[in-house]
Parts: sequence; structure tokens; C-alpha cells
Amino acid sequence: MTDSAPQRAIVIGAGLGGLASAMRLGAKGYHVTVLDKLDRPGGRGSSITQGGHRFDLGPTIVTVPQGLRDLWAACGRDFDRDVTLKPMEPFYQIRWPDGSHFTMRDDPQAMEDEVARLSPRDVKGYHKFLADAEARYWFGFEDLGRRPMNKLWDLIKVLPKFAWYRADRSVYAHAARRFRDERLRFAFSFHPLFIGGDPFRVTSMYALVSHLEKAFGVHYAMGGVQAIAQAMAGVVRDQGGMVRLGVEVDEILVEGGRAAGVRLGDGTEVMADIIVSNADAGHTYARLLRNRPRKRWSDARLKRTRWSMGLYVWYFGTRGTREMWGDVGHHSIIVGPRYRDHIKDIFIRGHLADDMSLYVHRPSVTDPSVAPDGDDTFYVLSPVPHLGHDNGVDWQAEAEPYRKKMLAMLEERLLPGLSGRITESLVFTPETFRDRYFSPLGAGFSIEPRILQSAWFRPHNVSEELPGLFLAGAGTHPGAGVPGVIGTAEVLAQLVPDAAPVAQLPVAAE
Ligand SMILES: Cc1cc2nc3c(=O)[nH]c(=O)nc-3n(C[C@H](O)[C@H](O)[C@H](O)COP(=O)(O)OP(=O)(O)OC[C@H]3O[C@@H](n4cnc5c(N)ncnc54)[C@H](O)[C@@H]3O)c2cc1C
Repeated sequence: MTDSAPQRAIVIGAGLGGLASAMRLGAKGYHVTVLDKLDRPGGRGSSITQGGHRFDLGPTIVTVPQGLRDLWAACGRDFDRDVTLKPMEPFYQIRWPDGSHFTMRDDPQAMEDEVARLSPRDVKGYHKFLADAEARYWFGFEDLGRRPMNKLWDLIKVLPKFAWYRADRSVYAHAARRFRDERLRFAFSFHPLFIGGDPFRVTSMYALVSHLEKAFGVHYAMGGVQAIAQAMAGVVRDQGGMVRLGVEVDEILVEGGRAAGVRLGDGTEVMADIIVSNADAGHTYARLLRNRPRKRWSDARLKRTRWSMGLYVWYFGTRGTREMWGDVGHHSIIVGPRYRDHIKDIFIRGHLADDMSLYVHRPSVTDPSVAPDGDDTFYVLSPVPHLGHDNGVDWQAEAEPYRKKMLAMLEERLLPGLSGRITESLVFTPETFRDRYFSPLGAGFSIEPRILQSAWFRPHNVSEELPGLFLAGAGTHPGAGVPGVIGTAEVLAQLVPDAAPVAQLPVAAE
């Protein structure tokens, strides 16, 4: 590090966590260069445009907009001038095979009525569940989730609270104590799937998501989450930083025992005073630091790590359908015949089941710019096993039959006449996630958020392996999801010193 030049930071990866980190570092006075192999910023939050349809590839539900507003404010900017968020009402609808349905709403009375409509005897339990969710929010999200957890002591101090909140219990087990109706147990326990967690095994702390929805609503970013990523890249550039796309990082360079730069795929070296990796933590350690001895995140340890499930996503456009399927809203969940056993197939047995439960995204209901006039843009997502199971799925053979099963289920349960209306089609399997995002085992959400893989147990935001290296994104603390990865940058900013000519950088944690 020189005394006179401004301190330079490199951020590997322009995912939402990487861009948020770049913004935070820019605000601290660093000259930041963001490098990403893709052709546009946003990572999983980017988009592909095909045949006049903009397919938002990943996140569609924006919760906790305050996290984004805080990020912008830390850079002296106003989020709402750069991005338009539209509150959703209703939030989403869940449909079961027997024809019953449940609509998640903003209005508290409408929600109580909806619970009562399915199961009058569960109204009391519903209110208790919401109170539990709020208590877990204050502890898990506002306290733990917003501060570094890289010292063992940080964890030890909060263990009594974990015990108090019965963090050892799963989200499903917690919901089952509050609701007797199996459909409501589903409706209030499936959320961990959106951050890669098995509802029957992740800690009940994640019940806090119900509070996030109730307190802050569910939003859609006009232009898709891609618009948020573009706005982030704009802030980085306004701060004097650079976002270089189509550039793959091959290795993190080490000099004098600290991170000193990166070597790109074409052999070029780019030097900096600190490096932030927003590439998956598994990729960062196994690939980008492959030539360094690693004491905690060794290849063996990464092999023992439990990774989130994979995702099969079918993106498609339909012609002349905007007025059809009038009762199909922006977000729908089509539940299959099995819950617990199906989740076991995905997470434990690694078996690609015949049945499926689907999340259906129809942004054209809210944002006509995603499709040509009168047409619709959809994506349908099904959780599937990641690529690491012994009896792995052969996606080259299975991708098309699986899409056909999905199509049949959609035609029967949600979109009659679909097959004659499709004009564009694009499929992502776990192999796409592996190749496109360098996601270990093609996992949808990096390291599974089990209790022994959360907080201190997750790869730290200040690297345990190499001074001058920091980590942000889904595989670090606090974790996946848009609020989660924005949170990783907030935590990281507390660990990186302000850029100043004589600043001392911290050494790696213990
Ligand atoms: C289908 C889907 C739906 C989702 N829905 C929601 C939702 O509704 N709400 C929500 O809150 N969350 C949702 N999520 C989760 C959320 O999108 C992710 O947790 C989050 O976007 C991950 O951000 P990240 O910063 O970890 O980086 P990523 O998005 O994983 O980006 C990492 C970036 O690093 C780049 N990179 C990696 N290695 C290298 C390298 N060696 N050289 C150069 N570049 C590299 C990659 O190209 C990528 O752009 C969803 C995710 C998916 C996949």
C-alpha cells in the first residue's frame, strides 16, 4: 500500500452484495474497481432480454426496502430518486391441489380473515406466530444480522438468546406448534426455500420473514431487480469507481502475506490495497485461493459443507395472453401433493421427484415494460437437488422432460391453454448456476443456512485465511436473499477501515 495514492479496492463480482460493498467502500474513500464475468451487473439479480421479453433471472420479491435506502444514504444519495419500488397488494397467492388457496396480504384484518377462512381455530395461533416472528426479527435481523460475527466471542455472547428462542427447532416445527391446519403450516414455513434453506431443518429464527413481510411489505422494483443493480453500478461510477464487465478473475494474488491484487483470465494483473470477493465463498477459497494453504476453508471442509438446493427455472414468453388468466397475479405458489417428503427428496435423498411445487412469476401484471404489448413474461421455479448428491441428476437428459412436466402442471393448475401460446423459452438448471455464477454444486443460494452454518460458522466477512481479503454475498454472514446480501456489505463496511493514506488494515480474524 502506498502512502500517497488513494487506497484502491477490487471487488470480484457485481452481484448485489458486491455492488453494495463497492458503494460502501466508495463512501469510505476507496477507489473501487468491480470485476464481473457477466455482461451486465446484478449476478443472480440480472436479466436476459429475448424476443422482446425481459426475463428477471432471480430475485423478484423485494422486502425491507429500508436496507437499500440506508445503503444509498451511506453514499449521500436518495434511493427513491434512482429506483421506483411498487408495493404489492396482494403479496402472493398459494394454491393447493384440492383447489383451496390462501392470499398473503398487507392489510392485518384481511390477513386474519384469510386465516379464519381456512381454519377458524388457528386465528389465535396466527397472532402468537406473528409475535414470535417480531421477537426473532429484533434479535436475528436487527441485532445479529447487522454486525460482524467473525469472533467466536460474538457468538458465545448470544447463545443464551438462541436457546431462549429455541433456535434448535425448525421453522416448520415452530409453525406446527402455532397452526393446526397443514396448509397454514406450509404458508408460514416455506419462506426459507427463498434463501436456500430446508424448512424442516433451518432454525426457527427464520420465522422472522413473516414479520418482514408484515412490517415492510412486499415490493417489486420497476425494471426488475436489474434496475436496482444498474442504479448501484451508477452510484459506483459517480463515486469515481469502475464496473468492468465480461472480465473473469482467475486468482487472488498474494504479496508479503496479504491480498495484493487479482490475475484475470487473460493473464493481466490488477493490483489493489484490499480485495473484496463477492464470488461464492466456496469458489473464492477453492478456486481463487487454490494456491494458498487454508486453515479453515480447506477443500475437505468445503466438501463437508452442506449447500443449498439447486433450482430449475423456466423463463418463457406468451403471445396475446395479457387479458387471459385474469385471476393469476404477479406472484403465485402452486403447491404439489407432498411437502415434507418432497423436501426430503430435494435436500437429503438428492432425488428428482415426479411431483413438484412451483413459484410462478408474472411481472407483466405490474410492469408492462417486460413484454411486448398484450403479451406476458413468466418464470417458473422449482427447487431441485444440487449437483453434489451421489445419485446426481443427468440434466442433459432430464431438462426437457422436466420442463414438459412443469408445463403440464401449469396448464392443469394455473394457465389453461399455455402450450399453444409460448413464443420464447429459456431454461436454467443447476448446471447453468454452476457455469454462469461459479456456484459450487450449482447451488441456488450458496451455503445452506443451517444453524451450524450461520453467523460465526459461516465464512467470515473478513477472511480467516488472508489479510486484506474480505467477503460479501450469500455465502457469508448474514446470508442469502436481497436484504441478506445488502446486509453482508453493511457488516463488511464495519470491518474495513476508512481509506486514508496511513490507515492500517486489519489482520485476518483469529
Ligand atoms: C431464481 C432465484 C430467485 C430468487 N428470489 C429471491 C427473491 O424473490 N427475493 C430475495 O430477496 N432473494 C431472492 N433470491 C436470492 C438472491 O437473488 C441472492 O441471494 C442474491 O442475489 C445473491 O447475491 P450475491 O451478492 O451473493 O451475488 P451473486 O448474485 O451470486 O453474484 C456473484 C457475481 O460474481 C460473479 N463472479 C463469480 N466468480 C467470478 C470470477 N471468478 N470472476 C468474475 N466474476 C465472478 C458472478 O458472475 C456473479 O455476477 C433468488 C435467487 C434466485 C437464484
